[in-house]
Amino acid sequence: MAPLPEPLDPPLVAELRAGLLAWYAESARDLPWRRTRDPYGIWISEVMLQQTRVEVVEERWVRFLRRFPTVADLARAAEDEVLAEWAGLGYYRRARSLHAAARVVLESHAGQFPTDPASVRALPGVGEYTTGAICSIAFDQPEALVDGNVERVFARLFLVDEAAASPALKRASWDLARALVPDRAPGDWNQALMELGATVCTPRVPRCSGCPVSARCRALAEGRASELPRPKARRPVVEVEVELALVLRGEEVLVRQRPASGRMGGLWELPTREVTWSAEAAPGIHEARWPEVLTETGEVLAEGLRHSVTHHRIQGRVLEARLAGEPAGGMRWVPLGELEQRGLTGLSAKALSKSAAAVARLRRSR
Ligand code: SF4
Repeated sequence: MAPLPEPLDPPLVAELRAGLLAWYAESARDLPWRRTRDPYGIWISEVMLQQTRVEVVEERWVRFLRRFPTVADLARAAEDEVLAEWAGLGYYRRARSLHAAARVVLESHAGQFPTDPASVRALPGVGEYTTGAICSIAFDQPEALVDGNVERVFARLFLVDEAAASPALKRASWDLARALVPDRAPGDWNQALMELGATVCTPRVPRCSGCPVSARCRALAEGRASELPRPKARRPVVEVEVELALVLRGEEVLVRQRPASGRMGGLWELPTREVTWSAEAAPGIHEARWPEVLTETGEVLAEGLRHSVTHHRIQGRVLEARLAGEPAGGMRWVPLGELEQRGLTGLSAKALSKSAAAVARLRRSR
């Protein structure tokens, strides 16, 4: 393991803070959540930004706050509504945690967002990073934070020769972040670090000529800026072939809710089975068999579906099927017109959209 950064000398710390804060004041992107100090709004933006590009979050953050303007509105909403509003942003467990945390704020803190870091950290789904973001940006507290952008900036600035997202780089980055976060403008400092990583100290080709702290960058001095952090080993892609069952009853369609724990927990989907998969492990996202009460009619309603979930590359087709008996095992009849208000998995949403013509034909023929 490479040696961790040496203790920081005060002139270096002062120079980094002054350079980065002045640059941020001048160059920060004007993003909607940067115009508020409301901890609720900041919290939502941070959770969205952990998984989605800024351009997408710009639109979705505004939409989410229009739908749930306060933490109490979020707490009182049904989980399905929250998941439906989150659809397309991925990592649905985060949406469920947001909802659970909003309920804690309402019930245990009388609807007021807690201000001390320990209480913020104790909210469901809130980790070290989000605590740092909320406390520093909304409450001006000198709490540190580290995300992938900050790790990259530190790996280069302080020549931490470790792999991206490795425990060693995380440890070193948190030590550095805590040592560097200032008492004055800690929120701006944290955002400046992330902004530098997002816009200047970018993954492949950092724009060192426009960097406000280039004079102090050890990776640049050694000609290793674009080498660090070292690439992490990638998980091999798993190819999966699936079939989705479309069962209609008048104006209703049969859907099934995924188990609360696990991938896409709580979302709704067409009954789905994995037919083949390239990994040695048994099916990963769906079961291998239909529920016993389902039988295929043999008619293919749509083919050529493609979808990705983390390292799973999925191909699929939609089959017409029938239900013998009553829905069981999380299945339920839902009016076709209400599907959009439910949180549907991305794969099922694509399957339904691709089968729209077939669905219209089946409805006409009954
Ligand atoms: Fe990143 Fe280059 Fe700035 Fe170093 S000089 S921190 S590598 S942008």
